[in-house]
Amino acid sequence: MSKKEIPSRWIYDYFSPFEVHKHAIKGTLFHGNSEFQEIVVAETDCFGRCLILDNEFQSAEFDEYVYHESLVQPALLLHPMPAKVAIIGGGEGAALREVLRHKSVNKAVMVDIDEKVVECSKAYLPTFHNGGFSDERTVLLFRDGREFLEESNELFDVIIMDITCPLEEGPSYKLFTKEFYELVKKKLTGQGIFAIQASTTSPIALDTYSILNRTLSAVFANVFPYAAYIPFFAINWGFNLATDSLDPTLLNREEIDRRITERVKGELKFYDGITHQAIFNLPKYVRKALTLQTHINLDNSPLKEKYPGRNV
Ligand code: SAM
Repeated sequence: MSKKEIPSRWIYDYFSPFEVHKHAIKGTLFHGNSEFQEIVVAETDCFGRCLILDNEFQSAEFDEYVYHESLVQPALLLHPMPAKVAIIGGGEGAALREVLRHKSVNKAVMVDIDEKVVECSKAYLPTFHNGGFSDERTVLLFRDGREFLEESNELFDVIIMDITCPLEEGPSYKLFTKEFYELVKKKLTGQGIFAIQASTTSPIALDTYSILNRTLSAVFANVFPYAAYIPFFAINWGFNLATDSLDPTLLNREEIDRRITERVKGELKFYDGITHQAIFNLPKYVRKALTLQTHINLDNSPLKEKYPGRNV
């Protein structure tokens, strides 16, 4: 390809009417609608296969480990001995894969509202789940994550939220409120840990991230914001870890590396003792936005995004 030739097929990630990131694609492997959302699996030229739901990019083959290790590993490695873990959402199966790496885990319950997303992931995204759906420790349920927690009598050592962003017309906006976080807290064991994906930490779209951090802080004693750069999104992505007793910032590099060696099967590609220091130390503009935020997200007027990170 000469310098001036550009591919003709693109997919577009809409961050706002004025910010659109695009990726060249070789083709579309699946495009359809479920009861809940529009589903696309495409093959990009640079990042391999990717999943897109309701026009929102979810993850891509060649860098999904950055997002999924960030979401799962800090929480599981902070817990002294995670045995029972729940993943709410998690369609691609990559959060499940990360949970199942832990030798101490004997039960991983994954609750995704959309069976069709999981069917697509099984068919087109094998490296994401890596066989996790058929692991004997996995319990896979297709139902709303909030209803599941309301009706379940089980307690979990770690609960992970890997759900789509709280889009206006999407299926997930009821799972980001204070009332939902209070429900989660009741379903955690004594030293239980809660980890969420929490939208972008882009300096121009910090509403969702700061509101979710503030909302979690109204429920949990200790809330730790952190973020990682996701090349496929071309943007930083935020997470929060919430607990009433443990503190990830007290773990030094050596201790994290020791826990990884002792407790995790296979090699992590992103998270280790050094990466931990990087992701839990946020830049000043993010820390300032978190300090200034006063809004708590409540059931009676839940946050509904039109575009990632923006409460409008
Ligand atoms: N990496 C993602 C991101 O950037 O937002 C999240 C990944 S995962 C594909 C999101 C999953 O959340 C989807 O499979 C979707 O079906 C599921 N989901 C959305 N709302 C849900 C709900 N109310 N209960 C359970 N799962 C839900």
